[in-house]
Amino acid sequence: MSEILTCSHCHATVEQTDNYCRVCGKSLKQGYSFWFTHTGIILMALVVGPFALPCVWMSKVIGPIAKWIYSLFLLLMGYYLVVMCYRLFTLVQTSMSLLTNGL
Ligand SMILES: [Zn+2]
Repeated sequence: MSEILTCSHCHATVEQTDNYCRVCGKSLKQGYSFWFTHTGIILMALVVGPFALPCVWMSKVIGPIAKWIYSLFLLLMGYYLVVMCYRLFTLVQTSMSLLTNGL
């Protein structure tokens, strides 16, 4: 895989082996750490769920299609969590009213 890398700060073309931009001197490693890789994102999604989204968007390791898939998956996960919380809330409410009215 050889793609043209550019500096995220000044958009100058940089070498794959460069750690810092030759034009503006900014670090190029931002977005390349473990948490921005496929493994890191999947691990984080399992732990923090939809809160892994910023890492998906900031990642420079994964491709745009992968970003869309991860985003969609995490948003679905978030939606599911909200629905589950709502169901739990209504369940607790009904059981509470059953308890207070039944006695
Ligand atoms: Zn630069």
